Amino acid sequence: MAIDRVAIITGGANGIGKACARRLSEDGCHVVIADVDAQAGQELADELGAEKNKALFVQCDVSDRLAVNNLLAETRSAFDRLDILINNAGIVAGGDILTLSEADFDRVMGVNLKGAFLVAREAAQQMVDQIEAEEARSEDVRRRYAIINMSSVNGVMAIQDQLAYCATKGAINQMTKSMALALAKYGIRVNAIGPGSINTDVLKSVNDDEEAMNKIMSRTPLQRIGDPDEIASIASFLASKDASYITGTTLYADGGRLALNYTVRSD
Ligand code: NAD
Repeated sequence: MAIDRVAIITGGANGIGKACARRLSEDGCHVVIADVDAQAGQELADELGAEKNKALFVQCDVSDRLAVNNLLAETRSAFDRLDILINNAGIVAGGDILTLSEADFDRVMGVNLKGAFLVAREAAQQMVDQIEAEEARSEDVRRRYAIINMSSVNGVMAIQDQLAYCATKGAINQMTKSMALALAKYGIRVNAIGPGSINTDVLKSVNDDEEAMNKIMSRTPLQRIGDPDEIASIASFLASKDASYITGTTLYADGGRLALNYTVRSD
């Protein structure tokens, strides 16, 4: 009998991560929801079958190495393996080069970049250990293993007063490539997703602000905000054997924003 795949989703309690956890659960994976938000994380794990050992919530601040070590230990103890990582936890802090505080710079770097590194490092080691111990055939590795880092259009386009966030997402794109090169010999694929404006808590303030929404629409050719499910479906694809020859790339889902120079035409 085929062994179910096991996926860790960081920042999996809310927003895009929550949609990814639901989608991978529908795909038949056991899901480990890793988040600082214990209430939402446990509720989602319960919804996705914590009682039947289909889902697990682990409280984890990804910027804390010991918490990340514990996340992997809890995953092994519950499911004995790891096949997929959705490295998704992320935060923002306003500030440009003249105003951003050192504390906010460190906080955003700590979660978005160092946190992504710490989780990816532990996850990759676990995957390599499994592949070597199981003497896995390359076609099985292709079917099972994937790491997906959550980037952003801000990995390549900048917002003036989101210096730290933009810097981390540019770095995530490069880390994705470097990881893909190092893990290629094992057959583990590493890719990133670059969302545009997606309807999560991050956009809550904008939803009720007509002027801010008009600004977003002026740079979104598809003329709507994206849904978290439209990012989760990409995570599902990148984690599937249908993506077996894709590694080291960032796939953008941005309603056309990166294709646009100037603003959307009104006619
Ligand atoms: P969100 O705020 O709705 O969810 C983020 C989740 O991460 C929350 O559950 C939060 O508790 C968790 N989290 C925060 N700090 C954490 C930490 N230190 N350790 C573990 N978990 C932590 O945000 P979202 O919009 O769903 O964003 C998810 C990812 O998608 C982020 O990496 C973000 O940069 C990226 N993204 C979002 C958008 C968007 O428009 N929403 C666009 C581009 C990229």
